[in-house]
Amino acid sequence: MSLIVTGTIGIDTLHAPTGSAEGVLGGSCSYFAAAASFLSPVRLVGAVGGDFPAEHAELLASFKGVCLKGLDRRPSSRTFAWGGRYLDDMNRRETLFTELGVLEEAPPKVPAAYHDSQYVFLGNTHPSVQMDLLHQFPHRSLAVCDTMDLWINIARPELLALFKEVDGVVLNDQEAMQLTESRNAITAGRGILDLGPRFVVVKKGEHGAVLIHRDGVATIPAFPADASQVIDPTGAGDTFAGGLMAHVARTGSSDLATVQQGMAWGTVMASFTIEAFGLERLRRLDLHQINERMKLFRTAAKVG
Ligand code: AMP
Repeated sequence: MSLIVTGTIGIDTLHAPTGSAEGVLGGSCSYFAAAASFLSPVRLVGAVGGDFPAEHAELLASFKGVCLKGLDRRPSSRTFAWGGRYLDDMNRRETLFTELGVLEEAPPKVPAAYHDSQYVFLGNTHPSVQMDLLHQFPHRSLAVCDTMDLWINIARPELLALFKEVDGVVLNDQEAMQLTESRNAITAGRGILDLGPRFVVVKKGEHGAVLIHRDGVATIPAFPADASQVIDPTGAGDTFAGGLMAHVARTGSSDLATVQQGMAWGTVMASFTIEAFGLERLRRLDLHQINERMKLFRTAAKVG
């Protein structure tokens, strides 16, 4: 079943207590697509500028399941760039700079061959762009979006309009609370349900994730990593979404039980991403390692 992701392709500069990385490949689309590609073919739609390094394009292409027909290259524009710094406990992050570049221009072009996509993930980018892209997939059976603090601050009305049209929203606890002015992740999730979607997944970092829908709530723990394994949490959220959506797409279903199983695959994929800067750990990953970790996770998460 065809899975598509749109969002940012970025050049990241990262600082963490574990070290720094300058000018590495990042962006919501890149992490999502790389992670998803281990479980399902994935179509990528995103724009980059003339400054996008050839080695970053090669890295994206090295993930065999990623189709890059939707990589919109704009020679006279600049690629989205972002800098972030993690504070001592790695749970808190501050943005150092955001250079929107191509994000200030027209949305990326969707190749005609992609219009039949059924599983649509609208990764982090301006909500108007997410909406524009959503409408280009008339055969969708499941549409899910992400968002983050910048868009909640500067494009709230557009975001609320988007929530009315998607099936699901995946976002982190800080963002959910910021959106709803609630101090509890479940209450915040319920507040977002009232805005339109039929389910909300609230990511809580090292405390796992919660699925909230009209008939109940389901929780899933994070993969139990000790501090020495956490090198760079950047992209964990996008990787989680990539694993989740790829699992849902490969089963060809979009019921809540499948979404919940998808959360387990997303958790396992994210547990790899945080082990190195940027996409480095995913670059060295294979399906055998993923399946082995899934077995460990099933044992660790088992109750009763
Ligand atoms: P995550 O750690 O999952 O929240 O995602 C980190 C990625 O999001 C980085 O690789 C950044 O390039 C990208 N990013 C940062 N700010 C934004 C933004 N405002 N919109 C879209 N992507 C962003």
